[in-house]
Order: sequence, then C-alpha cells, then structure tokens
Amino acid sequence: MKFEYAPAPESTAIVNIQSEYNLFIDGKFVPSKGGKRFETINPANEKVLSRVTQATASDVDKAVKAASEAYRKTWSKLTGAQRGKYLFRIARILQERAREFAVLESMDNGKPIRETRDTDIPLAAAHFFYHAGWADKLDYAGLGKNPKPHGVVGQIIPWNFPMLMLAWKVAPALATGNTVVLKPAETTPLTALLFAEVCQQADLPKGVVNILTGDGATGAAIVNHPGINKIAFTGSTEVGKIIAKSVASSKKALTLELGGKGANIIFEDAPIDETVEGIINGIYFNQGHVCCAGSRLLVQENIKEELLEKLKRRMSMIRVGDPLDKNTDLGAINSQAQLMKIRELSESGDAEGAERWSPQCELPEKGFWFPPTFFTGVSQAHRIAREEIFGPVLSVISFRTPSEAIEKANNTPFGLSAGIWTDKGSRILWSAQQLKAGVIWANTFNKFDPASPFGGYKESGWGREGGRHGLSAYLKGDFS
Ligand code: NAP
Ligand code: MG
Repeated sequence: MKFEYAPAPESTAIVNIQSEYNLFIDGKFVPSKGGKRFETINPANEKVLSRVTQATASDVDKAVKAASEAYRKTWSKLTGAQRGKYLFRIARILQERAREFAVLESMDNGKPIRETRDTDIPLAAAHFFYHAGWADKLDYAGLGKNPKPHGVVGQIIPWNFPMLMLAWKVAPALATGNTVVLKPAETTPLTALLFAEVCQQADLPKGVVNILTGDGATGAAIVNHPGINKIAFTGSTEVGKIIAKSVASSKKALTLELGGKGANIIFEDAPIDETVEGIINGIYFNQGHVCCAGSRLLVQENIKEELLEKLKRRMSMIRVGDPLDKNTDLGAINSQAQLMKIRELSESGDAEGAERWSPQCELPEKGFWFPPTFFTGVSQAHRIAREEIFGPVLSVISFRTPSEAIEKANNTPFGLSAGIWTDKGSRILWSAQQLKAGVIWANTFNKFDPASPFGGYKESGWGREGGRHGLSAYLKGDFS
C-alpha cells in the first residue's frame, strides 16, 4: 500500500536574498570595474533569485592583491592557534545559521532541503571544525617541522555541492595559513556570497577570503594570474585538463578533483535490502550530481533479477518534486544545460540498444526535471557505461566471477570511487586492493568525513582533500 504525503514545505522567510550582489574583495562588497551582471535562478521553478556580478580580469587582479597583502601583513603573522580561533568562529556561525544556508542552497541549486539540512551544511561546518583543530598542530602532522603555506590560493568550485565544496577548499587553506580568492559556479553563487557575510561576522581579517562570482572566463583569469601560488579546482575533467596545461609552465602548485564513473559492485552474498538502499543512495542522492556517484552497477548475474525487482520497487517510492518540501527525495536538475546533457546521454543509451526503466512519476511543469532511471542491457562500450552522466541515471552491467567484476570496474578512464557489497570481509579486502579508485566504500556508499582523504586516480584528478593528506596540498614541500 502506498501512503500519500501531505506537503511539508520549508519556509523561505529565513533567507534574505538581495536583488543584486557585488564582489567580496578585501573584506567588503564592492562593485566590479566594468563587469556586467548575470542572473541566478531557482532551477525548480525558473524564477530569478538575484543578479550577481561577472568579475573581470581587473577584479581578479584587485582580489589577488588584497589576498597577497592580507597574507603578508596579517595572516602569516598569526600563530596557528590564532588562525584556529577564526575557523572555530566560522564553524559555529555556520551551525547557528544552518537553516538559512540550507534553504538558500536548496533554492539556488535545486537539491532537496532534506539533503542540504542533513548533509551539505552540517558537513560544511564539520570541515571548519576539523581544520580549526589542525591549525595549531601542523608541526605534528608528519609534514616536517614548521611547514609553510603557499601564500595566495585560487579556488574554483562546481555547482553540485556549492557550500560543501567551498568548505572543502577554504577550511584547509586558512588552517594552513594561506589566503584565498574563490570563484563559485555560475549557477550557484548565493551561498558563497552568504559565506562572505559570515567572514565579516567572524571578524576575519580583511582580504583573507575574497569571493568573486563569474563564469569560466573569471575562473581562467584566476588560474592565469601571476600572483596566485596555488590552484585548487573541483569540476569537470575537461576544464581540469585546460587548467593543468595553463599551470604547467608556471611554478603554481595544483590540485584537481575531477569527474568519475564509480562502480558499485554487488556480490551474490550481499545483504540484499541494505544493498538496495546503498544503490539508491549511490546514484539518486543529490539528483546523481555527484562526482563519486555509484553510476555503474556491477551485479553478479545469479542475483540480478531479484535485485532489479527490489530496486524497481524501492525506486517507485522516490518522491520527485519541490526541493523545499521536506518529503522530497529527488529535487530539480541544476540547470537547463545539465538537463540537456543527461537527456542526450540517455538517448545515446536507447540508440545503442540498452533498455531504459523509470518508475511512474509526475514531474512539475516548470523547472528542470529528470526521473530516477536505470538502463539494463548495457555493454562496456556504450557511452552510458563510459561517460559521466552526472544525473539520476544508473547503468546496470552483470558479471559472473569476482575477477570479472574487478576487471570491469577498472575498465574506465576515471578512478574516483567504488563500492563493494558482500558478506565476506576477505572479499572486501581482496576487492579493495585491486580496485583503482581513490575512495572505496564497503557495504555503504557516499559516506563523507572531514578526517578521511578524498580524491581520484587517472582522469579523476590529482591530490587529496580532507584528512592529513589534504593538509599537505596547502603546504610547501614534497610529501608524497
Ligand atoms: P566545470 O564546468 O568544470 O566547472 C567547474 C568550475 O570551473 C565552475 O566554477 C566553472 O565556472 C569553472 N570554469 C569553467 N571553465 C573554466 C576555465 N576555462 N578555467 C577556469 N575555471 C573554469 O564543472 P561543472 O559542470 O560545474 O561540475 C561538474 C563536474 O565536477 C563533474 O564532472 C563532477 O564529477 C565534478 N566534480 C568533482 C568533484 C571531486 O571532488 N572530484 C566534486 C564535485 C564535482 P562556470 O560555473 O561559470 O562554468
Ligand atoms: Mg541557481
């Protein structure tokens, strides 16, 4: 029996969105030198939320100068304990204003309030708490005595976890003593601008964090600015390659967190109901806009039918719709462009002979939507088995023996994440040793913790974020 849910809308009264935003440079919101404005919309209803500034190369120059001066005159003069106090302060303010951040993130991004409230914002605060704790202990991190920061760090982040990716970038940079020029994604700039207010509220010295909104051209101006000592980028492999080329001829340090095509491997002895939950979480969490999504389901052939039946039943219960409704499981696709990309790749799946399945679901008329979907009959050569879809679309592939599972899992240019589902501990260890993926989950999926390093092999990126490994990316020296 299916129960109906009464709507449970989260109020938007807590957020105060301005009609226009300037750039956050040297501790103040300042107008651009000649930059135009562009709209950011709510992808669930296509309404304009605000108009933000397209930062120009001369704005980037101003922000880099502010960051450089802040580094020389203030931030590098503080002790680790003093820097830590600011990070603790920011973490506490994020907790105090968590609901405001969660609502704003859901409006600007389209992701369900349940996820922003329970995942994005608590994890963002946790990243600041975790790195606040490191700020005065860097001498004991096994990275040498008195390790030195790079100086000014340029940071460019994507739209899928806007506030969380900001926290992954800003918290370790500040804890290790760097100053920051950060660009949020074009479609999701609002929580980064609210974070700028938090920096003011925390009395963070001016220029330590600078936030520039803009598009790829702003990102490129940050990457190419000679006053930047390190670039930290999260986004697509395509743009990552462009950045790697631009930085190659300079002395800039670089970390790249790029795309993925994670294998979620289900062995015949897996606990089936828990596994179904893990598959759902692996690919339908955050509309599948997750770099480490379990987007390839590798299932042992003798349990495939039973597993897919259970998966269909569970998928029929996924509630798609208003991101601000607390009952919603799957929200809006972040942009029209991303929706077109998901449609195009799914259509290639149809054309190449795979079979598509989605539960019955009514999609809202306005906004960008895609139902939870899986494809069976997928061969390893199909585009939907090779390319990152970055949407709620799962490709199901079967295997007969454990070694075939590993071979198929590793048959990808990416290497970010993998999942292993089995009752046997020895099989978990055996599989994990052979999988070429930076993060491997066993009998769970999409679990994140600031203490745990995250990053990829091959085309999924360079370097790690989080944990002790993540600190080394913001310090000078060869720690490999
Ligand atoms: P994207 O197009 O690469 O954009 C990422 C950021 O780079 C955005 O802020 C973007 O600005 C900016 N940008 C675009 N062109 C640039 C250029 N030439 N130089 C410098 N910056 C530039 O990626 P996306 O579509 O926003 O994000 C999705 C991708 O991110 C997926 O592939 C996903 O797997 C990956 N991702 C990886 C991780 C990880 O940790 N490995 C985490 C999350 C997401 P605009 O917004 O204006 O385009
Ligand atoms: Mg938006």
